[in-house]
Amino acid sequence: MTKGQRTALLEVIAGLSLIVATSIGASSILSRIDRKLHNTAQLNTLEAEESYTTIRNLVVLLFGVTGVLATALYAAVVVARRRSVAQLEREIRARTLALARDRQQIEMLAHALRSVSECVVVTDMANSILFVNDAFVRTYGYSAGELIGGNIDIVRSGNNPRPVIDKILPATLAGGWSGEVLNRRRGGEEFPVFLSTSVVRNEKNEPIALIGVAIDITARKQQERLLVEAREAAEAAARTKSQFLAAMSHEIRTPMNGVIGMTELLLNTPLTADQRDFVETIHLSGESLLTIINDILDFSKIDSGKIELELSPFNVRVAVEEVLKLLTTKAVEKGLELVYRVESKVPAYIEGDETRFKQVLINLVGNAIKFTHRGQVTIHLVTRNMTSDKNFELLCEVRDTGIGIPGDKLDRLFKAFSQVDSSTNRRFGGTGLGLAICYGLVELMGGRIDVQSIPGQGSTFRFSIKAREVSVVDSPAITTLDGRTEMSGKRPVVTESVERKPEISIPKLDPGLSERLPLKILVAEDNPVNQKLVQLVLARMGYKADLVENGLKAVLAVELSHYDILFMDLHMPEMDGLQATARIRRTIQADRQPRIIAMTADALVGDREKCINAGMDDYVGKPIRSEEVQSMIERWGDPKL
Ligand code: ADP
Repeated sequence: MTKGQRTALLEVIAGLSLIVATSIGASSILSRIDRKLHNTAQLNTLEAEESYTTIRNLVVLLFGVTGVLATALYAAVVVARRRSVAQLEREIRARTLALARDRQQIEMLAHALRSVSECVVVTDMANSILFVNDAFVRTYGYSAGELIGGNIDIVRSGNNPRPVIDKILPATLAGGWSGEVLNRRRGGEEFPVFLSTSVVRNEKNEPIALIGVAIDITARKQQERLLVEAREAAEAAARTKSQFLAAMSHEIRTPMNGVIGMTELLLNTPLTADQRDFVETIHLSGESLLTIINDILDFSKIDSGKIELELSPFNVRVAVEEVLKLLTTKAVEKGLELVYRVESKVPAYIEGDETRFKQVLINLVGNAIKFTHRGQVTIHLVTRNMTSDKNFELLCEVRDTGIGIPGDKLDRLFKAFSQVDSSTNRRFGGTGLGLAICYGLVELMGGRIDVQSIPGQGSTFRFSIKAREVSVVDSPAITTLDGRTEMSGKRPVVTESVERKPEISIPKLDPGLSERLPLKILVAEDNPVNQKLVQLVLARMGYKADLVENGLKAVLAVELSHYDILFMDLHMPEMDGLQATARIRRTIQADRQPRIIAMTADALVGDREKCINAGMDDYVGKPIRSEEVQSMIERWGDPKL
């Protein structure tokens, strides 16, 4: 029987007892009246009997009414009470349910708090620890029992900067603080944590507890240190690599200088047909070895982000013509037509890196000629997106009617060392670096390069570069490399129809140059082969040059006698070419100053600038070409200059 049923039963019993008690009370009063009536009846007074009967009836009525009223009242009370009890029960049930829900939630939160990987600690405002979670216990090495009730100072380190520590509590009370601090584990070991703090307030907004969430960042710090070390190591490696490349390029170019220079000289002597053939082969092999070295160097420079653009105004049409001049011989040999068209909207002078622009063009046109057996190679230049401040994109298209490239090979084309098939190298030569270099250079010049091709029909390579139009007034250097002064404005379509028989271009030196331009020439060079080579090249033009083997001796020689031109190697013992130049520029009086022309095998960016900045007039690269030496003399040896 439930509690409710028991209460109901008791209430029924109480109700019945009330009725029984009322009935017993009523009947005892009635029996007393009856007894009185009986006594009175003995008096035989009719009158009295009547009054007793009336009283008795009244009493019966009174009791009856009272009984009924009492019962009704009782019933009403019982019903009301039962109702309020039911109400109470409902409320209690609802509250119990809410409480259970709250408790479940609290348990869930507590569980979450206990099991999060961050270390959580709650303290009161007197720094006494109220709660720690499992991660806190694990990380700091104390048991929860040891911590709770104790002071939070136990995990604090004395080695944090005072200003940081002083800031934490005010910041926490003002909304929260987070940052890195040192903490201490049980064994005394200190370790870095990332700490976030916040405050708990009561309904009166008074702070009652502080919450700290700490993350052990020992591993992260270690990782950061490792990363920094790795980056430093990588940077050091990259530096070593580029130093190695610079050194190797110097080392390889120096003997190449001998090979190419001497064969050029040899080609200028009387030879039998066989001998000429052999020497030409050596010359050609030397040239292609140099191309490969240059390719590898360029590629590694691009790869390591070492290339910087040298922006200056140049004539686009002249640049294109120079590229074509270089490659015409090859086209002629194959009986190909080489055509170029520059849209009239392309400005005469643009600002850009002429060398790099030409390098890309040489590569693309060179490839087009290499992979085309009949038909033509066309170069087409147009402008795009010209803005009011004269910035635009220069779009160059190189189209050939050659063997084409299969569609599935197109995407690999601009990657390093990729050739369409492995027999390409054997048949056509090349390193597979050319297009990768173009890709890098074009990207550097702010453009893009792409290709479309149909096998058997031909390929079209397109690249763009960012350029800016400059007016000729802006550009003092309007004399082109070969000494021509360029005309501006529209130029007609140029078509080089090629039917002439090709001939290998052997440098033609002018044996009478020294008579036209009598000059006193000094050569500063430490390498014996190069000394001999430069002297021989100069002798071909009729000059007898003096020779010194280091910079210091060059300075002394210039102090002792006047020289018109000084060819200066850069790397020399005792004093290098740059220092020697600076010394000469500083100490020798103006009318005795020689023209100084650098000769260097260095191929890294900015060398030219370094030379000019040191006070040199010009620059020839090694291996030295006799023609180049001759044009230097023609350019700088003119006394009217
Ligand atoms: P490589 O020095 O070998 O020429 P490139 O990177 O310049 O290296 O070219 C990679 C390959 O792309 C070439 O070996 C050739 O297979 C293919 N290729 C490049 N240009 C053309 C072209 N115009 N026609 C057909 N194939 C080409």
